[in-house]
Amino acid sequence: LTPAEAFAVEYWPLELYKLTLRPPERELAGRVAVITGGASGIGRATAYRLAQEGAHVVILDINREGAEAVAADLVSRYGEGRGMAVPCDVTDEAQVAEAFRRTVLAYGGVDIVINNAGIAHSAPVTETSTADWDRLYHVLVRGYFLVAREAFRIWKAQGIGGSMVIVASKNALVAGKNTAAYSSAKAAEVHLARCLAEEGGEIGVRVNVVCPDAVIRGSSIWDTRWREERARTYGIAPEQLEEYYRQRTTLKVNVYPEDVAEAILFFASDRSAKTTGGILTVDGGVPAAYVR
Ligand code: NAD
Repeated sequence: LTPAEAFAVEYWPLELYKLTLRPPERELAGRVAVITGGASGIGRATAYRLAQEGAHVVILDINREGAEAVAADLVSRYGEGRGMAVPCDVTDEAQVAEAFRRTVLAYGGVDIVINNAGIAHSAPVTETSTADWDRLYHVLVRGYFLVAREAFRIWKAQGIGGSMVIVASKNALVAGKNTAAYSSAKAAEVHLARCLAEEGGEIGVRVNVVCPDAVIRGSSIWDTRWREERARTYGIAPEQLEEYYRQRTTLKVNVYPEDVAEAILFFASDRSAKTTGGILTVDGGVPAAYVR
């Protein structure tokens, strides 16, 4: 016995100890999970994490090639039916309805929906064009609404409940400098989630929110002009941004897509069966201090 096992044997009731020796059951076995924006970043990491727990993963993304690559890889790792790509622009009502129709046709229902597909933008309010403002609200607010409405229609008809995770942002909870459009749209997502949680209670549907702070690498947002815009806001070079984000956290860590996927798994699964309308931050502890 290792020292840890010896400790467990001595201090835990034997039956409890035996339980810990059982191979963990794949807790999402047989469940159908729809992930918007699953071709990249947080959505992609979540697709892999949920599939690892046994879920059948349906990836809705405007990036057809990226979605198909992830779905094909899931099938090759976990078997037939474990990944499906549905090209879909979440701002298009008809495409969202069609994507859910195809999902139900393929799998017979939906258990989990990860409302995640998004874009980012950072600029002082005086330099935010009306087109940028509208684009952000279109994808982040209208897109999340359309996906939620379709999921709720199915869940009402199915009558067996479900779990929705809204991927918002730390910027929804605190003011991110030079992000008036993005942060206010993300705040709208949080309140959308609270309202949906209220409605969902009647039909056994839980709706919870994950709020990541800046996600380093693996996210295509990290590789776009967002990174340069954020660096300019803080008066540093883009190469210094990763270290800047690490230093401003309490734990002195960077957040990666995989870290966010763990929080999403918690809300998607029965681990959080008694939680709805909840918010979980994945930010290395930024709120423990005032930061500018
Ligand atoms: P990402 O760019 O890596 O992935 C976003 C995915 O969404 C892409 O695959 C993209 O093709 C897809 N997408 C964009 N618009 C779409 C549309 N109209 N229809 C369908 N798919 C569309 O970004 P990410 O970092 O993984 O971001 C995922 C979510 O997390 C977003 O809502 C984002 O706001 C949020 N978030 C990101 C960060 C970060 O620092 N990266 C921090 C907090 C919150």
